[in-house]
Amino acid sequence: MKITFLGTSHGITEPDRFTSSTLLTVGDKNYLIDAGAPIMKLLQVYGVKFNTLSDIFITHSHADHYLGLVEFVNQMESFKQFEGVSVKIHGPELFPYDEMRAFLFGDGSLMSHKLGGNRHETNDTSSRISFERYAEGEIFNDGTLKITAYKTRHFADSHSLLIEAEGKRILFTGDLRHDLLDFPYAALDTAADLIVMEGAHAKLSTEPILNILKPLNTKRMIVNHIYPGFNGDEQMKVTISALTESYPVTAAYDGYSIEI
Ligand SMILES: [Zn+2]
Repeated sequence: MKITFLGTSHGITEPDRFTSSTLLTVGDKNYLIDAGAPIMKLLQVYGVKFNTLSDIFITHSHADHYLGLVEFVNQMESFKQFEGVSVKIHGPELFPYDEMRAFLFGDGSLMSHKLGGNRHETNDTSSRISFERYAEGEIFNDGTLKITAYKTRHFADSHSLLIEAEGKRILFTGDLRHDLLDFPYAALDTAADLIVMEGAHAKLSTEPILNILKPLNTKRMIVNHIYPGFNGDEQMKVTISALTESYPVTAAYDGYSIEI
């Protein structure tokens, strides 16, 4: 499985980082964990063919984790060249999918098609992108990838996602509380091959947080969703050194990718 970090910033886009989105490639299938902007551009930059994109999983309903879908859904549904694309979006309890479609495909948008002013022959706004709401537990298994969701307390519908594919276990923490009291230990009953740890809310280099991180049952950790005020380069050096006897830690950057 290949993991490519498309966007590794915290809630604000930085000069060198986009907001949250991570690409998983398993065999010839592609999946996204979160879809911050501008995924439409990023998928093309990284050479992802749209008809190989299978499913998109949104960890919680904060827009830095899904804003890219506005452009993505609009263009996939509206343009003839994307016929044959079939993507399912998996969103949690409060995800505003219907509201997004109303925003994109309201009367104003349809009018140009009805009046014949658009160069496209159809405005089929229902066939290429589908949506399913998820809660807790096993939320997905297509035989290639299995995903189990664990509720966290960052937000009303926030989740960590345990990814299992090709015999590997990867825990995406999603956004957590600043004190990590909601860390999903249940996902680590069996050792993880990797934890993708969010670095936007907890100061990872501080003693109370390190005491939570040190005993985690994992072979390695990658920090993404980085807020430089809490986990900038200097603080990451402290974190990496403090955890060196537990497991290796790497700070992700946009474009960073690993095979696992
Ligand atoms: Zn976030």
